Amino acid sequence: MAPGAARRVLEGQRAAPGMVLGRARLQLAHQHAIDGTPLPADAIDGELARLDTALAATRAELAELRQRLHGALAHEAEPFLDTHALILDDPELRRGLIEMIRQGRYRAGAALVAQRDRLIEVFRRMDDPYLRAREDDLSHVIARVLDALERGGHQGERRIAARLGEILVTENPSPAELATLARHGLRGVIATAGSSYSHAAILARSLHLPMLCNVADAAAALADGDLVLLDGEDGLAIAHPAAQDLAALRQWQRAQAARPRPTPRPAVPARTRDGETVALYANAELPGEIAEARVLGAVGIGLYRTELLYLRQPALPGEDEQYAALRELMLALDGAPATLRTLDLGADKAIDTGLDMPAEDNPALGVRGVRHGLRHPAILRTQLRAMLRAAQLGPLRILLPMVTLAEEIAAVRAHAQACLAELHAEGVPAPQTLPPLGAMVEVPAAALGVRALLEHCDFLAIGTNDLTQYVLAADRNQGALAGLYDPRHPALLRLVARVAGAARRAGKPLSVCGEIAGDAGALPLLLALGIRELSMLPARIPAARAVVENADCTSLRAVVPRLLRATSRAEIEALLCKLQQP
Ligand code: PEP
Ligand code: MG
Repeated sequence: MAPGAARRVLEGQRAAPGMVLGRARLQLAHQHAIDGTPLPADAIDGELARLDTALAATRAELAELRQRLHGALAHEAEPFLDTHALILDDPELRRGLIEMIRQGRYRAGAALVAQRDRLIEVFRRMDDPYLRAREDDLSHVIARVLDALERGGHQGERRIAARLGEILVTENPSPAELATLARHGLRGVIATAGSSYSHAAILARSLHLPMLCNVADAAAALADGDLVLLDGEDGLAIAHPAAQDLAALRQWQRAQAARPRPTPRPAVPARTRDGETVALYANAELPGEIAEARVLGAVGIGLYRTELLYLRQPALPGEDEQYAALRELMLALDGAPATLRTLDLGADKAIDTGLDMPAEDNPALGVRGVRHGLRHPAILRTQLRAMLRAAQLGPLRILLPMVTLAEEIAAVRAHAQACLAELHAEGVPAPQTLPPLGAMVEVPAAALGVRALLEHCDFLAIGTNDLTQYVLAADRNQGALAGLYDPRHPALLRLVARVAGAARRAGKPLSVCGEIAGDAGALPLLLALGIRELSMLPARIPAARAVVENADCTSLRAVVPRLLRATSRAEIEALLCKLQQP
């Protein structure tokens, strides 16, 4: 323990399990250390040179980014890069900065921040929607220059700084940051905000990266380099751990090491006590997870989020690269089925990907999922072509995220048909007919209008993570709403029942692939409502199987009328308690 450093226990919400010891690395987004003290007269020339170096480095960074983009992404991202380059080269901006440094004796960082704030004020007063949209571009560019200034003009990746053996302390990391940092040996994450339903938390669980979220005092209590014990099992972060904490860590590690390796389970559906079958699938993308899913007896991959291919690098993956990843998946599955979801970037997921999406006031209600695909057909078609090629290697289905209208499914089907015709014409191996095309039900309108959707698709998957946030108007990333955001809400369960009934009547497959599908405590609710396909984190499959094997569908069905009449969470919980008694 550092001399004088006192042990301190911080509480948070568990986002990904595991226990690790590491050094804290504070990285609070968009925070630049701005020196507001006046510049001495003899430092002016040096400061102007620093500014010029940072501007030149930012220009080079944008040019490099442009070079790395090719194909569809270049087409999509160029307008933003052009706007950013224009802002950077604006003679007015440069003149203003030079004047502030020369006359006002501002340091370069302080001048950049002051110029940014002044211009934003001007944009706002003009009340022009175009200029308002430029506010974010301006902030984005200035943040890049500030980063370059901090790096002394050296090129490098932005804001990615945690190193081997460190525990990142941040506000709300983006999934792209986590994907990159995990590759650099990050040990864990303490987020001061966020929730366990965020995409970053879901990814941390996939990466086996212990994570806490909503640790309100972490930023104040921890300093760079502090030794921290992150306990993702109990939701604690212990700064300057004492001997008893380290003993607890060792005990946990020993228990992990002594855990028997899971005996491989055959990939057969689980069976309830009264003989109904329930297919347990895995939500998985990484090779290790896919292998884990196979060992634990998953009957296939029920949700393959293609976003991960986009989070691994700053440039958009082309068709061949996507095909190579899907080929690896299909070969690993060895004939078991996979459901591939088209790109669902947007909201919190697009940050730091190669896809430079315009800032939106309400990204969760914005251009994401299939909305993005239909507005950027080149990106959608690249994915569809890769998926159609992969369909030669095993049974797969194509799933569309964020569907609101049946017309969206019809439009994607037309694109898919065109891609298939192209592949045939080019002599590229592809199936004769389209694989099944399905829709996520995660927008309330999709659940309420499910009959129309069913006419246009071959299967459905309920995404309770998003459906919950849209039905309850509670941001899934907002830790402060953790008490409200809850998929066990009666309104959610009524929608699930509605979708299940409609899918059954239409004779089309339906699964649930939100986090609730792997929540053993809530599974009896889904079984009662008629769900027979579940897709979850691989590690949750054994517990889910045990719940299914212990369930009796006849008695579960008997409580459905009461379940659907419930008016509160408390009533649902009481019913669940009853259901769980053997
Ligand atoms: C969901 O919304 O429930 C879902 C499975 O998709 P994601 O978590 O990727 O938004
Ligand atoms: Mg979703």
